[in-house]
Amino acid sequence: MEYKILIAVFIFLFGLSFGSFLNVLIYRIPNNLNILYPPSSCPNCNNKLKWYHNIPLVSWLILGGKCAYCKSSISFQYPFVELLNAIIWEALFYKYGLSWQIIFVMLSFSILLALSMIDLKYYAIPDSLNYAALIFALINPNFITSLKDAAIGALGLFLVGFITSKLAKKDALGEGDIIVAATMAALLGFPAFFIALFIAAIIAIIPSLLAKDTMVPFVPFLALGTLITYLFKSELLIFVKALMYG
Ligand SMILES: [Zn+2]
Repeated sequence: MEYKILIAVFIFLFGLSFGSFLNVLIYRIPNNLNILYPPSSCPNCNNKLKWYHNIPLVSWLILGGKCAYCKSSISFQYPFVELLNAIIWEALFYKYGLSWQIIFVMLSFSILLALSMIDLKYYAIPDSLNYAALIFALINPNFITSLKDAAIGALGLFLVGFITSKLAKKDALGEGDIIVAATMAALLGFPAFFIALFIAAIIAIIPSLLAKDTMVPFVPFLALGTLITYLFKSELLIFVKALMYG
C-alpha cells in the first residue's frame, strides 16, 4: 500500500515536470522555435530563468505569477497545464495501475493536452505533435488492432467531414481533426470511439452556441471526450448497452 502511494507521488511529480515541458511545446512549436534550445527565458524581459524559477507549480506560486526580474505577469496557463497533466497521469495510474503500456497512454494524452492548448490559442493543430500523439497511442501489445481502429476512425471522420462540407458548403473538419480521430480510435477501439465523439459533441454544444460566428476549436473537446471515455470505458459501455437494449 505504502509502495503504491510512493509511486503515486512520483507520477504526480513527473506529471508536473512533463507538464512544464508541454508548456515549452505549446509556446515554441506554433512559433517554429527549437524545442530544446535555448533554455527558457521570460518572454517580456528575455532574462534567462534560473532553475529555481522553473520548478513546476511551486515557482509560479512563490513568485505570485510574476517574472522574478521584470515582474510582468506569467500566464496562468503554465501552472494550469502542469497541474492538469499531473492529474491526468494520476487518474490513469489510479484506474489502470503502472505498466509500460499505460506510460505510452499517458504520453499520448499529454500530447493531446498540448494540442488542445495550441488549438485554443492559435486555432492550429501542428502535424508533428498530432502524429506524436498517434504514435504513442499505437504503441501497445495490440498494435495491429489499434492500427486498424486508427484507420477506421480516421476514414470515418474524413467521410463525416466530407459530407458535412458538401452540405454546408464550407470546410467542416480539418486534416488535423482526422489525425486526432485516428489517435482517439487507437486509444479507445470500437464502439468506445463513438461514445467519446458523442461526449465531445455534447460538451462542445455550449461554447459553440456562445461563440456563434467565431470558430470553436474542436480538439479540446475531442481530447476531453477521449479522456472521460478512456477512464470510464467499462462503465460507459454498460450504460450504453442498457440504453439500447433496456
Ligand atoms: Zn521578465
